[in-house]
Amino acid sequence: MKKIKEETNINNSNNSNEMGKSKRFMKWTAVLLYIYLHVFGIVGLYFLFIKAKWMTVFYFVFLITISSIALTAGAHRLYAHQTFVATWQLRLFIMLTHTLAGVGSIYNWVFWHRVHHKYYGTDRDPYNHKKGFFYSHIISNLLSVPTDIKKYSKDIDMRDIESDGYVWTQRKFYWILFILFGFLLPINIAIEYWNESTINSFLIIGAARLMITTNISWLVNSALLIWGLKKGDKFPVDDNSVFFLSKSYWLNYHYLLPWDWKSDEFGTYETGFNTFIVKMWRELDFINEMKTATSDDVREALYKIATSKMTMKEALEEIKANSEEVAYKEKLIFRH
Ligand SMILES: [Zn+2]
Repeated sequence: MKKIKEETNINNSNNSNEMGKSKRFMKWTAVLLYIYLHVFGIVGLYFLFIKAKWMTVFYFVFLITISSIALTAGAHRLYAHQTFVATWQLRLFIMLTHTLAGVGSIYNWVFWHRVHHKYYGTDRDPYNHKKGFFYSHIISNLLSVPTDIKKYSKDIDMRDIESDGYVWTQRKFYWILFILFGFLLPINIAIEYWNESTINSFLIIGAARLMITTNISWLVNSALLIWGLKKGDKFPVDDNSVFFLSKSYWLNYHYLLPWDWKSDEFGTYETGFNTFIVKMWRELDFINEMKTATSDDVREALYKIATSKMTMKEALEEIKANSEEVAYKEKLIFRH
């Protein structure tokens, strides 16, 4: 997979000055769909507890789990940030389970997530957390693409994604793949194999499942508002100055070093369910070249910032270059 030059959010505040007149409009069809999905989905959750067969409950949890892995470890860590390199078998699995989640193509999700990181916290950030959780999590996903979309496209390097055949296929045939494989087939399986009623299957496996996967996907862009540092948060001075040495306040850490594979989407660093899955993939030899920053690397970079003219951006790039070298060497060692 080609390496792309991933810019950090540092020093991007000037970008908002070049904004021009970017406009986004409410997509009312999407609003209606969102409302229907949540109304049917909530009824589906109610049915899950009072009417569903046990097999449907297990099946529901299973489908959400594999979709969630595709959204976090797959679309986010593998595709958006290239935190590791995956075999074709794993990329095919991720493409299929991502389609099952029904949240649009990997290509689109990655594009907007990269825009989000590049313009993080400015008016160009599509999920601008400064406008609050309701905007970041819901409204931003119901708005049309900005009128100056061409400017966005030029700034975001998508060559690595464009050269992935599975992502290309999913994008090209998204709706047909989703309707057949992501919607009708899962509903039909419950009806066919353990005689779940059509209404239960539609509401639980159709609506409630997609309601949850949609919210998981949207949370990857808005989680900072729940678990990240809040404006005015006060911590001991020592903690504040060395937060990314100790890798605490992990979500804010992710926005500084997004290519670190150990950053979990919802809650922790180096632990958590999705990180466990990534570790399993490593053990099974499905992935290699995993990039991470050691505390020593970070400490050394901070030392250089303090004692030389090195900027934060340069320091972060140096940490990334180091981690890429280490990841590549580990891959070579493993093969021998
Ligand atoms: Zn990210």
